[in-house]
Amino acid sequence: MAALHENQTQAEAAPDLDYDAIVIGAGISGMYQLYRLRELGLRVLVLEAGTNVGGTWYWNRYPGARFDSESYSYAYSFSKELLEEWDWTEHFAPQPETLRYLNHVADKFDLRRDIKFRSRVTAAHYQDGARSWDITLEDGTRLRSRFLITAMGILSAPVMPRTEGVDTFAGQSYHTARWPHEPVSFEGKRVAVIGTGATGVQTIQEVAKTAGHLTVFQRTPNWCTPLHNAKIGTDEMKQIRARYSEIFKRCSETFACFIHTADPRGTFEVTPEEREAFFEALYASPGFGIWQGNFKDILTNREANALISDFVARKIRQRVKDPAVAEKLIPKDHGFGTRRVPMETHYYEVYNQPNVRLIDIKETPIERITPKGIKTSDTEYEFDIIIYATGFDAITGAFNRIDIRGENGLRLKDAWAGGPRTYLGVMAEGFPNMLMVVGPHTALGNMPRSIEYNVEFVTGVIRHAWDHRLTRVAATPEGVDTWTDHVKALGQGLLSNEIDSWMTGVNRNLDGRDTRIIARYSGSSPAYRARCDAVAAEGYRELALA
Ligand SMILES: Cc1cc2nc3c(=O)[nH]c(=O)nc-3n(C[C@H](O)[C@H](O)[C@H](O)COP(=O)(O)OP(=O)(O)OC[C@H]3O[C@@H](n4cnc5c(N)ncnc54)[C@H](O)[C@@H]3O)c2cc1C
Repeated sequence: MAALHENQTQAEAAPDLDYDAIVIGAGISGMYQLYRLRELGLRVLVLEAGTNVGGTWYWNRYPGARFDSESYSYAYSFSKELLEEWDWTEHFAPQPETLRYLNHVADKFDLRRDIKFRSRVTAAHYQDGARSWDITLEDGTRLRSRFLITAMGILSAPVMPRTEGVDTFAGQSYHTARWPHEPVSFEGKRVAVIGTGATGVQTIQEVAKTAGHLTVFQRTPNWCTPLHNAKIGTDEMKQIRARYSEIFKRCSETFACFIHTADPRGTFEVTPEEREAFFEALYASPGFGIWQGNFKDILTNREANALISDFVARKIRQRVKDPAVAEKLIPKDHGFGTRRVPMETHYYEVYNQPNVRLIDIKETPIERITPKGIKTSDTEYEFDIIIYATGFDAITGAFNRIDIRGENGLRLKDAWAGGPRTYLGVMAEGFPNMLMVVGPHTALGNMPRSIEYNVEFVTGVIRHAWDHRLTRVAATPEGVDTWTDHVKALGQGLLSNEIDSWMTGVNRNLDGRDTRIIARYSGSSPAYRARCDAVAAEGYRELALA
């Protein structure tokens, strides 16, 4: 990508604007967006609420936090030099290693000089006349920029349970996504974990190793399958490095950018024996294979889904000694893979430990948090530490926490009241010059692969505007209608869209979030990219440019 003529930025940018582009968020998306926009010669600033880079891997320091994506499939692919010099030590790296990696990236490309930390954006208002964005930070600072790029993450707005008394607890309490930077000891302590999603599972299996006593409060059990993590030795890393181009090529061809992809066979095209052997092999293999690399119809065909669900249920019954506890851990309200599958390491065996108990809060709901612990409908439990693994206001949460107003004062919250409406997941109608990296309705999957693509696309739009001296880039109503309808149509027939989860926008800890929406694009990543590539090849004619 050619850098622009040295003086062009000054010539094209309105001198009264502070920046040509402001990016919100310094995670994987924001860091890469900064790198690319700098290449264009733009005056860019990244605003980040945290004190350093890393996003997800900066905030989620809870015990046991790690990848479910293979480390080497998750890394940035844009720099050969970076790939050459970074060694992953585990197939599924733990959070501290990923954070070290992202700090290494920031150092290598000198990113921090254009990132303002401790800078939470509270408002962003489009100015029709100036064709620019006025951005307000929590401390009252105001900044003006031609373009606003959101890189705020799909899982970055933590949610606490809707329970009274949270502030009254006298012991230590933590939300997993706001974990302290100092180590927390569980040695000999009475610990509670509320929540059994992907984060809860990782936390529980780690805390159970040292806690004096652990109580898990579960509302919805999830279908968890083994991660089978392993160390990567020097020789294996050499072999992985030699295969990088093959790995990234594979990720670019699979449905969701993972190295795993669905088996071309249908569940009922094989004999019961072959099916069982295939399920066993997947259960014994590392990572998301059992979810992403299973028979092609397990997420669309109810009978197929029932078979894999039954297989995993049998595994849970084999691994958990107390049959009553095993039954509590087996999901009854959704099939395998229709919610995000937590990957586990001896998670089910934790419930065989004498110092661990499981409380089903559908049977005995939590009434309140008390100074001593947690009061359910039948008992008050006493704790030294309460861990809230209650997840996020996913996908649209970070948007909802900012007062974003577009043309004629239109609030994004109102525009998306019935669910997000976007053009390619990158723009929203009525919000000119605002571009989203992995916004709602983009392809997600193995995130850095989707992020790199999204950043390239956003950069392409801005480069086009810059080259053609355009100061207003907007999605058209037809473009938004067509894409939103397309995304909705793709969701038809998917079992995952028939159940409540963060992927369908349902969150019982938030007001007004009990109705399902289509929050994410559920087509294939290659199809998504092909559509976006065609838009770019045709000179972004589908956008309103001025
Ligand atoms: C525990 C956990 C494990 C995960 N594991 C995987 C995995 O194995 N594979 C995978 O593909 N994905 C995984 N993900 C998803 C993960 O979020 C993405 O992989 C990726 O890190 C997203 O990067 P991002 O830069 O888009 O967003 P984030 O990393 O979320 O970064 C967004 C940044 O924006 C900042 N921000 C948000 N709002 C504001 C505001 N108003 N003002 C200023 N700053 C703001 C936040 O502070 C944050 O630093 C995981 C997520 C979690 C939470």
